[in-house]
Amino acid sequence: MNLNFSEEELQFQREVRQFLAENLPAHIIEGTANNGSVFVEKDIALEWQAILVKQGWAVPQWPVEHGGTDWTPAQKYIFSKECYHAGAPMLIPLGLLMLAPVIMAFGSEQQKAEYLPKILNGEHYWCQGYSEPGAGSDLASLQLKAEPDGDHYVVNGSKIWTTHAHLADHIFCLVRTDSSGKPQHGISFLLIDMATPGVTVEPIITMAGDHEVNQVFFDNVRVPMANRIGEENKGWSYAKYLLEFERGGGFSAHRIRHELDSLRQLISNAKNDNPAFDTHGDIDRKVARVEIDLKALEITELRILSAVSGGGNPGPESSIMKLSATKLEQDINELSVDVLGYTGFIMNPVPEGNPVRADYISSVVPRYLNNRAASIFGGSQEIQRNIIAKMVLGL
Ligand SMILES: Cc1cc2nc3c(=O)[nH]c(=O)nc-3n(C[C@H](O)[C@H](O)[C@H](O)COP(=O)(O)OP(=O)(O)OC[C@H]3O[C@@H](n4cnc5c(N)ncnc54)[C@H](O)[C@@H]3O)c2cc1C
Repeated sequence: MNLNFSEEELQFQREVRQFLAENLPAHIIEGTANNGSVFVEKDIALEWQAILVKQGWAVPQWPVEHGGTDWTPAQKYIFSKECYHAGAPMLIPLGLLMLAPVIMAFGSEQQKAEYLPKILNGEHYWCQGYSEPGAGSDLASLQLKAEPDGDHYVVNGSKIWTTHAHLADHIFCLVRTDSSGKPQHGISFLLIDMATPGVTVEPIITMAGDHEVNQVFFDNVRVPMANRIGEENKGWSYAKYLLEFERGGGFSAHRIRHELDSLRQLISNAKNDNPAFDTHGDIDRKVARVEIDLKALEITELRILSAVSGGGNPGPESSIMKLSATKLEQDINELSVDVLGYTGFIMNPVPEGNPVRADYISSVVPRYLNNRAASIFGGSQEIQRNIIAKMVLGL
C-alpha cells in the first residue's frame, strides 16, 4: 500500500526500526518463525512483552493513563508493520487486547487499578471462558451456573475449547446468574483465579498435535462478587464488546504480509530447484489473488482502526476483518503446502544454500493444520457473515 508518510512519521519509522534492531533478540525471531500454533510460546511472548513494556510500546491501543501511547493512527500502523517485518511475535491478546478494553470500559476504578497493571506486566496470564459443550455459535445458551452465597458466587459447570487454560492463572468467564428470561438476559461477566479450589483443566489435543485448547471444570468454585465486571445479568453486552476486539482489534494485514513474503520465498526456491515448477502459472495466479485481497484488507483495517483510534471499539465491522484475515491466512497456508508438496514433511534439514529458514519450512504443515481452526474460533465464518449481513449491511 502506498501511504504518503510525513517527515515526522518517517522519522518515527526510523526510530522503530532502530529499536527493533537493537532490542528484538534473535531467539525470539527464531521462535516466532518456528511457530506453527495460534500463539507463540508463552515464554517468548512474555519476554517480548516485557521488552516492549520497558520501552512503553507494549499496548499502543491502550489510553496513555493506563500505559498506552499517544500515537496517531499512522504511527500505530507503522509500528505494527515494522514489528512484523522484523520478525517479532504477536503479543498474546487474551488479557492485553480482549479483557483489558472491557475492564477499561465497564470495570470499577478498583478493578482497573487491580487488573490492568498485572495484565500489562505479564503477572496475570488470562484465558477466555465463553464456549461450553452446548454453547458455541449460540453463545447465549450458556449454562455455567453462578449462584449467590453471601458475598460470593458458587460456580458449577464447564467451559470448553479454552485456549491456553493449562498455562493461564486467570480466566474471564460468562456465567449464568438468571435463567428466567431471554437467554441473553441473565449472563454475568466474572473474573476467576484458576488456583481457586474446584477448578480443573483437561487437555484437548488438536489434529495438528498441539495442546492449545482445554476443557475447564468448575466444581463448587467460590468466586467473590467483587470479581464481577459491571452489573449482574448485563454480561451479554460486555461479552459482545470483547468479541469486537477479539475479531478485529489490531492490524492483522501486517502479519499476513509477512507470511505472504515467506510464501513468495518458497515459490522462488521451488522455481530455482525445478524449472518445470508452475509452468502453467496456477500458483502465480493464486498468489496474485491473495495480494489483491490483502491490499483490500490493509485499506479496510486502516479505515476501521483509524475511525476508532480515539479509544473506541471496532464495532461489527470487526467481523469483516476476522472473515477476510482468516480466509487470506488459510489461502497462504494452503498455497505453502502446495508449493512444498511432500517435502513439507521431510525437508528437514534443509539443503545447504536454501535461503528459506529450516524452521519456517518445518512449520508450514503444522501451521496449515492448526490454522484450519481459525474458521471456527472467535466465531465461525458463517457467524461473521451473519453479523455482517445484519449489523453492517442492514439486511
Ligand atoms: C482452536 C480453537 C480455540 C478456541 N478457543 C476458545 C477460547 O479460548 N475460549 C472460548 O470460549 N472458546 C474458544 N473456542 C470455541 C469457539 O468459539 C467455538 O468453537 C465456536 O464459537 C463455534 O462453536 P461450536 O464449536 O459449538 O460449533 P457450533 O456452534 O455447533 O457450529 C457448528 C457449525 O454450524 C455453523 N452454524 C452454527 N450456527 C449457525 C448459524 N446461525 N448460521 C450459519 N451457520 C451456523 C457453524 O458455522 C459451524 O460450522 C475455540 C475453538 C477452537 C476450534
